[in-house]
Amino acid sequence: MLPASFGYIAAHSVDEAIELLSKHGEDAKLLAGGHSLIPAMKLRLASPRYLIDLGSVPGLRGVRVDGDSVVIGALTVHTDVAASDLVHKQLPGLAEAASLIGDVQVRNRGTVGGSVAHADPAADLPVILTALNASFVLQSSSGKRTIPADNFFLDFYTTAIAGNEVLTEIRVPLPPSGAGTAYAKLPHPASGYVVVSAGVLIHRQPSGQCTSARIAIGGLGSNPIRATATEAALQGQLLTADVIARAAAKAAEGTDPDDDPYASADYKRHVVTVYARRAIEKAIGMRREA
Ligand SMILES: Cc1cc2nc3c(=O)[nH]c(=O)nc-3n(C[C@H](O)[C@H](O)[C@H](O)COP(=O)(O)OP(=O)(O)OC[C@H]3O[C@@H](n4cnc5c(N)ncnc54)[C@H](O)[C@@H]3O)c2cc1C
Repeated sequence: MLPASFGYIAAHSVDEAIELLSKHGEDAKLLAGGHSLIPAMKLRLASPRYLIDLGSVPGLRGVRVDGDSVVIGALTVHTDVAASDLVHKQLPGLAEAASLIGDVQVRNRGTVGGSVAHADPAADLPVILTALNASFVLQSSSGKRTIPADNFFLDFYTTAIAGNEVLTEIRVPLPPSGAGTAYAKLPHPASGYVVVSAGVLIHRQPSGQCTSARIAIGGLGSNPIRATATEAALQGQLLTADVIARAAAKAAEGTDPDDDPYASADYKRHVVTVYARRAIEKAIGMRREA
């Protein structure tokens, strides 16, 4: 299928992209890797009159440390996140999630910023970035604001990004020593998108006692959902296999997933407990492959 006709404008700076967004309002959409927007346009689910291409904007690509955060430029492609030594060392759960997205072509074109801005309920990065307590830096003509993940993903395909804002970077707090991160996903066999997934950040004392846990699950709602009952069941506990299994069994508490042709709601609620357990075990080094 062909998209409706549209005008193409290449922005050369964030300021120019913001100016163009303000000028064209709801008629315009930002273009990053195009791997979600162009398919939506072909299906006529989106018909923007103008595409503002961010591809030539300098300074939005790459992974670096800034203070106590790992900073990922919005235009960084999934392949570069998956291959980053820094991400592997500090945030292995994020490297894992990026490496599991789609296929090699999707990972070479799709961007971190595009993925979180699109907020597909079956996407990988929103889940792990919620677990990692990431923040999203949004720029407009009024300046910058930073939104934490818990307040960023609002609904199906809806985020806190306003129509006149560009997402410029994603900031992920560096986990303290003794912390572990992991991601585990049951992929749809055809598309690779999430059926269910779990992202985990766990801090432990040298004694093995859990001092804090953030667990996010995907596939059970419009956005990543914090598995708060699982988090509470881990808090303060010595992380034995038994404690982890009992905590993970609570991962779907409070969720109300839809039935899909490929997975019933009951199945998703059950299988997410398995993936939560695997991700927790992997985050603390109890399991090598999730
Ligand atoms: C065959 C296929 C399989 C896939 N499998 C998976 C998968 O398994 N897991 C998964 O998570 N994803 C998957 N994806 C989606 C892929 O990860 C996309 O790359 C990603 O969702 C969107 O990134 P993009 O750079 O292509 O964004 P685009 O398609 O260019 O943009 C998406 C949306 O984000 C907005 N946007 C982009 N950048 C910015 C910005 N900097 N600031 C504000 N708004 C912005 C755009 O205006 C648009 O609304 C798949 C895609 C395809 C085609």
